[in-house]
Amino acid sequence: MKFQLLPSSFEEDGSPSPRQHLACLVVDDLVAIDAGSLAMAATDEIRRQLRDIVLTHAHLDHIAGLPLYVDDLFASLDKPITVHALPDVINVLERDVFNWSVFPRFSELNTPAGPAIRYNAVEFGDQFIISSLSFRLFRGDHKVPSAGVVVTDGQSTVAVTGDTASLAGLQDEVASVESLQAILVECAFPNELTDIARNSHHMTPAILAEELSKLESVCPVFVINIKPRYRELVVAELTALKIGNLNVMSVGKPYFW
Ligand SMILES: [Zn+2]
Repeated sequence: MKFQLLPSSFEEDGSPSPRQHLACLVVDDLVAIDAGSLAMAATDEIRRQLRDIVLTHAHLDHIAGLPLYVDDLFASLDKPITVHALPDVINVLERDVFNWSVFPRFSELNTPAGPAIRYNAVEFGDQFIISSLSFRLFRGDHKVPSAGVVVTDGQSTVAVTGDTASLAGLQDEVASVESLQAILVECAFPNELTDIARNSHHMTPAILAEELSKLESVCPVFVINIKPRYRELVVAELTALKIGNLNVMSVGKPYFW
């Protein structure tokens, strides 16, 4: 499987900035896990074929690109864009985003191929198939209902946390998956902002190290979704942990698992 963290901003020379204001991970150019920067950074190949979006939760940095992506493709859609998410997340989208006031209610706007958006409400533990990929949501630990995602193509399996304060939900998944190729995990704040991290249900390098020590897994772990302002500090603190299988995922670079 190909995984790519889409950039959300760009350097002066046009290259992708490692600073992540928005969260969007694309699998096989076909499925997005979160849609923070989907509209802003999707390649033509992604725009041509990506019609399924799995949302971990409804915070703005994870959904900002969703309305704009649907708006961009609306006139040319050959099938609806399907949003796979917890029922609570779908309710927030319909109530607070696609409510005509903030943006059109695309689930009621028909293209020749049907509504522009349709929803697949999934609960924790439900398996759902998109093309040749199989997905399952596991419980996150955030301020709002939030999920992590396990995705497999039958050969490789990768787990992705959404925003979360702990890896308790992931622990059960690691126990049930035979071979995990990679874990992608959030680490939003530096250690000096532990109070803010705890209050907003995010992790710091110290919290992450403690959580990883409880996992019975030695597969590579890649950190994603570092708050842009603190990126250098968080990366330095992660490096200082000297955990052999712990890496920081590069923004924009494709990874193959
Ligand atoms: Zn969040």
